[in-house]
Amino acid sequence: MTVTVGVLGATGAVGQRLVEHLDPHPQFEIAALTASESSAGSTYRAAAKWRTGTPIPEDVAEMTVTRTAPSAVPDDVDLLFSSLPSAVGAEVEPAFCEAGYVVSSNSSNERMAPDVPLVVPEVNAEHLDLLEVQRDERGWDGALVKNPNCSTITFVPTLAALSDLDLERVHVATLQAVSGAGYDGVTSMEILDNAVPHIGGEEEKLETESRKLLGTFDGAEIVEDSVEVAASCNRIPTLDGHLENVWIESAEPVSIEEVTTKMTEYPSLPLHSSPDQLITVFDEPDRPQPRLDRGRGDGMSISVGGFKESPFGVQYNCLAHNTIRGAAGASLLNGELLLDRGYL
Ligand code: NAP
Repeated sequence: MTVTVGVLGATGAVGQRLVEHLDPHPQFEIAALTASESSAGSTYRAAAKWRTGTPIPEDVAEMTVTRTAPSAVPDDVDLLFSSLPSAVGAEVEPAFCEAGYVVSSNSSNERMAPDVPLVVPEVNAEHLDLLEVQRDERGWDGALVKNPNCSTITFVPTLAALSDLDLERVHVATLQAVSGAGYDGVTSMEILDNAVPHIGGEEEKLETESRKLLGTFDGAEIVEDSVEVAASCNRIPTLDGHLENVWIESAEPVSIEEVTTKMTEYPSLPLHSSPDQLITVFDEPDRPQPRLDRGRGDGMSISVGGFKESPFGVQYNCLAHNTIRGAAGASLLNGELLLDRGYL
């Protein structure tokens, strides 16, 4: 079955990654590309200023970009991937859902809304059934599914692998790539020869989204996990790939061997964009590194290494490609899950 899809915010950093991964895709075919009023009416080639490092897909390049409104998207589009700035997403995504479209979105608006599934398929696929509650409450024919923030996606699968260790506290410090701020997000004068120890709103996202993702769906609502997370977020001059230092504290002592075995054995899913091995464990103390490891599993793997005992438990480093696993690939995977679970 081929599903007709569209990309909202198709010209941006994440939108381009979505287009790159959708062409070709065995289940999805692009039929609509939207952006701001200033791009509407242009060809995708002219509007996008393609920057992914792979050639622009030729059959998509000549499509006309439309404005971002339900009336500008064909009715026969079944699924929309949204990579809009969150203020724009907050305004237009509900209108698309009301008009009957299913939206798999990257934007941060409504991630923590009680009736919006926040999903990483390998971690909490069962949360997708919250859509029944959403449809009852909002009266939508369409639906809204979110993936978390790129830094949250990087470390939460490693915590999910340790779910039976009864984690009490997690500390995480991030070293985030500039692409995470979008193409116009950080100027070269701000970031070259520098590190910025603040990313507005980011720490709160890691601290709250992780508890929702690791929570359980009881048929009516998501009961958040009790783990306490403290985050510190830093921007550094890498292009792609968020590296994170993680310290875990559990009720009972845990060994490094126990932790690495659980991460190695943590299963992936048989979805097209899910990697064969979700978490790659390195023995080397100086891995993973953004330049060397962000492309693993076509950018969809999580890499971990640098395991060390700490006075509180175990510490390690983890890494994921922020615009692929942390954004475009995450939305795409949620789209594949929606199809697999019969929501399209
Ligand atoms: P971006 O590069 O700035 O792209 C924004 C996109 O939205 C462009 O296509 C832009 O179109 C469009 N847009 C802007 N204003 C609009 C408006 N008023 N109406 C309709 N379309 C509008 O941003 P990005 O980095 O791709 O991020 C997109 C979203 O994903 C954000 O919510 C971000 O927080 C989230 N996210 C990003 C990352 C990452 O690693 N970059 C990771 C996770 C989540 P024009 O080209 O016409 O301006």
